[in-house]
Amino acid sequence: MTDSYDHYLGMNRAITRRDFLNGTAIAIGATLVPRSLMTSTGPEEPQNRPGYDPPVETGLRGSHPGSFEIGHSLRDGTFWENVGKLNDTGEMYDLVVVGGGISGLAAAHFFRERAGASARVLILENHDDFGGHAKRNEFHLGGRLHLLNGGTLLIDSPTPYSPVADGLLKKLGIDPPQFDAKFTDRKLYHSLGLGSAVFFDKETFGEDRLVVGTPGRSWDEEESAGQKQRHSSWIEFLAKTPLSPRVQQDIARIEEAKSDYMPGMRSADKKSLLSKMSYRDFLLNVVKADPGVVPFYQRRTEGEWGVGIDAEPALDCWALGFPGFQGMGLERGSAPHMSYSAAGYANGGSYRFHFPDGNASIARLLVRSLVPEAVPGHTAEDVVTAQVDYARLDREAAPVRIRLNSAVVRVKNVGQPASAKEAEITYASETQVFTVRAKGCVLACWNMVVPFLCPDLPEQQKQALHYLVKVPLVYTSVGIRNWIAFQKLGISRVSAPGSYWPDLSLNAVVNIGEYRSPTSPEESILIHLSRAPGKPGLPAREQHKFGRYELLTTTFEDFERTIRDQLARTLSAGGFDPARDIEAITVNRWPHGYGYEYNPLFDPDWPEEQRPNVIGRRRFGRITIANTDSAATAYTDAAIDQAHRAVSELLES
Ligand SMILES: Cc1cc2nc3c(=O)[nH]c(=O)nc-3n(C[C@H](O)[C@H](O)[C@H](O)COP(=O)(O)OP(=O)(O)OC[C@H]3O[C@@H](n4cnc5c(N)ncnc54)[C@H](O)[C@@H]3O)c2cc1C
Repeated sequence: MTDSYDHYLGMNRAITRRDFLNGTAIAIGATLVPRSLMTSTGPEEPQNRPGYDPPVETGLRGSHPGSFEIGHSLRDGTFWENVGKLNDTGEMYDLVVVGGGISGLAAAHFFRERAGASARVLILENHDDFGGHAKRNEFHLGGRLHLLNGGTLLIDSPTPYSPVADGLLKKLGIDPPQFDAKFTDRKLYHSLGLGSAVFFDKETFGEDRLVVGTPGRSWDEEESAGQKQRHSSWIEFLAKTPLSPRVQQDIARIEEAKSDYMPGMRSADKKSLLSKMSYRDFLLNVVKADPGVVPFYQRRTEGEWGVGIDAEPALDCWALGFPGFQGMGLERGSAPHMSYSAAGYANGGSYRFHFPDGNASIARLLVRSLVPEAVPGHTAEDVVTAQVDYARLDREAAPVRIRLNSAVVRVKNVGQPASAKEAEITYASETQVFTVRAKGCVLACWNMVVPFLCPDLPEQQKQALHYLVKVPLVYTSVGIRNWIAFQKLGISRVSAPGSYWPDLSLNAVVNIGEYRSPTSPEESILIHLSRAPGKPGLPAREQHKFGRYELLTTTFEDFERTIRDQLARTLSAGGFDPARDIEAITVNRWPHGYGYEYNPLFDPDWPEEQRPNVIGRRRFGRITIANTDSAATAYTDAAIDQAHRAVSELLES
């Protein structure tokens, strides 16, 4: 990149992108903290400082600087080298929850339901905000509030919400089908003539070209609602692309053809074969498409599973509505050897709705139920615009306390696990290390952290916990001055199969409570970009490790340059000027994202009781284990169900 290109992109422009909180780095990694400071009396908790409001922070969010260094020093075995005296707070709780994501918050909720509202609960969270992946990105642009999810987006699952998870939503006042009908507007962009496009980049396809009017796809309901009538066929669309005639022909054949590629076989036998080959192999070896189709499809599966089509079974892709199977006579319903998501969606899935900040609203509603004085308001609608008072989250007199910026470093039974009556929990906050005690502890944090917190766990359980490699993802929110370029080009979302960010879309339109989405292209708006880094060709878990490393070693400046470059190349024909039009950027980096879901191409077909997640979540004395990882999947209903199980195990032992 030349200096003049950087100048054109606006890399020198002052936008809202602070990597620091209140001007001070909250790097609390013990390796970064001088020994002398580790035992000193520290300042007040960061969350009590005036102006503390994490959702408005921009720059590198998700696993932000300061949230993971302690965990990594525990992993590397260096943390305790620097620790002097521990500060015993003398605090005693009925329950301590490690992890303030939806699972941890739900665990606190279920515990109080059973143990009584006066039960004393402490939630410790290493990030500067509660919610975990359900993170809120909040912007104030053009005089109005703009919201987007920094992670967990949808109330949606491959299986219907269980009575436990559904019951919790009801208690919080959320009625997903009704909310979806009332608050989601899927017509606005269509009414303005905006649809989908594909951006072909020169590095992958030989030239930069935006081709507008992608024909509808059955797996994308928002597109299919408006697009199908407008675009006559794939052949017409593909003719406008830089793809070779042979590749165009084969993509059209995949998208529109009615061929049965396994004639004479029963549906069940076809499904069995498809469950053992990747979608890539299906396209190349069964459909016998030209290898030139692969770059067009390679990254289609990333959003759902975090790997490309080389590592995702064809049968799973069929269940998610991918093309190529239309003429094969596959009967509806799941089959043996399918991933959790695919098997569920093949049978119908759950309802769908999302708040403007995604499931961060669920986290905020849970916090309101636990610490009412911290989240004003009374309804699931008004929580969207409520201003959280972070200084009220950790008050001594309150039965529930939520302590942010507090990385738990050790959890142990007091005495032998079989007879222990209490657990001791040690955590680091800013420059100090503290201990608290509780009658029980739910670990609602990421499963692979657990062996480092509880080194006394049985070896088999630690191995099982390590098996579950979370899926790395990055969700970026970009605030722009207006969306006139989108209007001129006739697009609301762009798939970019070869680019750094394969998906780019205008913020979805949801109007709820006092929150209003922008309706005029002259207004500012947020754009959502996403990416799941990996290394095609490797087994899924190896790809995730590779992607995690990539995310942790990419600087904000590097992310910013890719964002500006891609937006400029995609939108400049509509008059978009990256230097002038970009107002704010928040990069939500999740090196430990989706909970690992078993992949039929790589994982053994264990019996239920031998699955790593089932072995990994075994109770250990006064310590139980929640989080979606414990279900080997990545959905909010699982986070809630696992919290319920972990609390039950604690109360019933
Ligand atoms: C980008 C992204 C998009 C997603 N989209 C959806 C979606 O649309 N719908 C859906 O249902 N699900 C989605 N998910 C899955 C999501 O993981 C779950 O729905 C749910 O939010 C997970 O909740 P959890 O509490 O189990 O885990 P988390 O949200 O991960 O919470 C665990 C918390 O524990 C904390 N923690 C870890 N170690 C420690 C420690 N040592 N001390 C203290 N705290 C610790 C973590 O920092 C984290 O905040 C998405 C996930 C990601 C990453």
